[in-house]
Amino acid sequence: MRNYRMYINGKWVDALSGKTFATVNPSTGEELGRVPLAGREDVDEAVKAASEAFTGWSKAMQAERAKAILRFAALIREHSQELIDLEVNEHGTPVMLARGFAAAAVDQLEYIASISRGIMGQVLPQSMPHTVGYLQRVPIGVCAVITPWNVPLMMMLSMVGPAIVMGNTAILKPASVNSILAVKFMEILEKADLPRGVVNLVTGPGGTVGDALASHPGVDVVRFTGATDTGKVILQAASQTAKKCIMELGGNNPVIVCEDADVEKAARLQAGRHYGNSAQNCSTPGRYYVHEKVYDRFLEVFVEEVKRIRVGLPWEESTTMGPMANLQQLKKVEYYIRTAREEGARIVYGGARPTTPPLDRGYFLMPTVVADCKHDMTIVREEIFGPAACILEYSSDEEAIRLANDSTYGLCAGVWTRDGSKALRLANGLQVDSVFINMPRMMTPEFPWGGNVKESGIGKSDSVCGMEEFTDLKFICTSYS
Ligand code: NDP
Repeated sequence: MRNYRMYINGKWVDALSGKTFATVNPSTGEELGRVPLAGREDVDEAVKAASEAFTGWSKAMQAERAKAILRFAALIREHSQELIDLEVNEHGTPVMLARGFAAAAVDQLEYIASISRGIMGQVLPQSMPHTVGYLQRVPIGVCAVITPWNVPLMMMLSMVGPAIVMGNTAILKPASVNSILAVKFMEILEKADLPRGVVNLVTGPGGTVGDALASHPGVDVVRFTGATDTGKVILQAASQTAKKCIMELGGNNPVIVCEDADVEKAARLQAGRHYGNSAQNCSTPGRYYVHEKVYDRFLEVFVEEVKRIRVGLPWEESTTMGPMANLQQLKKVEYYIRTAREEGARIVYGGARPTTPPLDRGYFLMPTVVADCKHDMTIVREEIFGPAACILEYSSDEEAIRLANDSTYGLCAGVWTRDGSKALRLANGLQVDSVFINMPRMMTPEFPWGGNVKESGIGKSDSVCGMEEFTDLKFICTSYS
């Protein structure tokens, strides 16, 4: 089995302790390879390298940094098959979807590179005689990038890319279960010929490596995506040195299907999107509030659509849903399904692991539809982050809004109605960062994501707004009297 290394200051290195850990194929439970188990002393090395590199990289011309990202995009395209293989084997992404992610990765990097050359500061209105004051966008410094396991490749590049193109240097700490994919990501990035120390990779557990980064005095900004509880721990650690934190956290997203909606379309499109990536997406709806007059029809069509999902080994072309990414998450979703049954919901489809070989060996779970849910059930209140959909009935728009907003999360929401004014009224009443009307959530690099609503995050990602988060607005005022 291959031993992989981390990347610090332009060199491939082992952990200073010499320790390693394995990552596992979620379809088979077999070990894939070993990576360094870094500790705090390795983080010190990476921070030192990134700090030294910042001096030169932050002063490089924007065009130079953008061209480096374009070289990286071209390399991702050239090496996409290796990345696809790892998405499939280390994460369990169905190969069809993994190809889509690889293509989207290139698109995202090309967007980041081109937009970076158009990001501007501002000139302030004159407020004192013979002076001019302006806000200049400047890089912040060393950025710790702590990524989750759910969409590994996309997360790494959409978090590292904007950080470095805007002139920061980065230390990537991937989710431990995706460490080999992170090594491949770094091997490809190395070929883009960035100055040494601009991007570093440290592999190891969040509790030590992630914490060392978040609390390190040499780190200026933390870019984190992951669970809200982890985010709170990171915020606490980062507060010791008052650093900026850009956080994309959890969601429990409501979708409201009104009585005048195109119910069939709503059910088909939502069910068709719901189970992609085994529903391990922060944007996956946690709660479908369906008007009582269209509830039965919605449920019927939703289930029809779910029956078309092909659960299978992710490397098979016909598979549309692979395993869950890790055993811990599988057990968590099973717990939610169990509590739903106990609390009186009806499992109308799925609800168990497949038992026929070879699927009985990996972390597979059948796509599950949970009907007749009540708003106070555990499965409805918490973020599931796995292939179960909760369907609830409501009777008035006011009730739907009240229930939708009754959550500690505020990431995104959906509204289905044929009435344009009602759509906007509901969208304005929903306490979330993004609303999708008559469509499931779609992603493009131009669309912003996240924001500052409730416990779902701090700061925007993607789009121009997401890139601006990686800059500081420096005020400069000069007299010409
Ligand atoms: P976790 O919070 O468990 O882990 C995310 C990352 O944080 C991993 O790299 C992990 O390392 C690291 N980490 C764990 N503990 C600490 C710590 N104490 N200090 C610093 N770093 C730490 O999230 P998951 O990977 O389980 O991802 C699922 C969650 O992410 C869901 O809640 C989901 O909603 C959210 N998410 C949000 C998105 C959004 O856009 N809002 C997008 C995608 C996911 P290790 O792997 O070693 O444990």
